[in-house]
Amino acid sequence: MIIPKRPKLTDEQLDEVTRILGDFGCRIQVIEGAVQNIYAILGDERHELLINRIEGLDYIDRVDTIQSPHKLLDARSELKYHKTVFGGIELGKSLLTIAGPCTIDPKNPNVFYETAEALKEAGVHALRGGVWKPRTNPYSYQGDDKALDILMEGSSRTGLPVNTEVMDEGQLKLALDAGVHMLQIGTRNALNYSLLRQVGQAIAGRDTVVLLKRGRHIGPINEFISAAEYIVNFGNPNVMLCPRGTLPTLEGYRSHPDESITPLLKEKTWAPVVVDPSHSVGKAMYVEACSMAAVAYGADGLCIEANIDPSKGLGDDPKQAITPEAFTVLLRKCEAIWALGD
Ligand code: PEP
Ligand code: MN
Repeated sequence: MIIPKRPKLTDEQLDEVTRILGDFGCRIQVIEGAVQNIYAILGDERHELLINRIEGLDYIDRVDTIQSPHKLLDARSELKYHKTVFGGIELGKSLLTIAGPCTIDPKNPNVFYETAEALKEAGVHALRGGVWKPRTNPYSYQGDDKALDILMEGSSRTGLPVNTEVMDEGQLKLALDAGVHMLQIGTRNALNYSLLRQVGQAIAGRDTVVLLKRGRHIGPINEFISAAEYIVNFGNPNVMLCPRGTLPTLEGYRSHPDESITPLLKEKTWAPVVVDPSHSVGKAMYVEACSMAAVAYGADGLCIEANIDPSKGLGDDPKQAITPEAFTVLLRKCEAIWALGD
């Protein structure tokens, strides 16, 4: 990683550095931060002559050679100074909340609009709503492009940014063209490297944010962080890591709650952690406790399924969505816990 003396290299400086790297079979990837750009070396950056030639340039401060399987996401990387801002919140400064239905019902758009208004009233910072759904059963409702218009209409009515899951390149394009602010990569696609690459490429140079869920088959923690590295190495560092419960389940819960990995993630990486308590415990009655635990563990945010009338919702809502009233109480308690950590 090349650290210049000023926040950004000029075009001529970038050309010169690129030429030197080319002599050693390496390439450069610019990662655009709000304050400072990061210049990652793609390839083996440990060659002594390479380091000497780059460090010999008068506009370069130093070359960092972090040895890590995920050198961009690593807590020691210069990207630790990157500030992720979403829904008016600078991650880490106050608790980010994202909430909304599991699945938007295209036949009843008012459910989404009313839920969105009620959640806004309750203080949520961003809305979620599934347009396309990864369903275990091929005969279950799979989503509908029409729901994308409803999602965006909910965003304009409330002024809140929106999150939705994309599972393939076609959905990715539709979502970005419509102006979706946060793309979700779900637990089933958490290790779909082609999709991770496509998302990374598509959001480079934009201010889009990605919520990357943890794969539900427990894997090494580095596997989760490396999945985020796939996205960030195309140039947009706005990735949030989302523990959402793993398999095998803890009996009685939908998944094995994993908000407890938050401190571990925070030790290894600078990326914000946004916990999804809804898919973790899988029942509305446990969501508040799981959210409070997540904040106590140091989560930067929460992504929660909520619906004005969970019983009439699609997908997971009848089981695990909470009402906007329950969200109001949950938020008050979680903010009180957050304040303890300040
Ligand atoms: C969801 O957010 O509705 C969803 C399907 O999430 P996950 O990928 O965590 O199952
Ligand atoms: Mn869901």
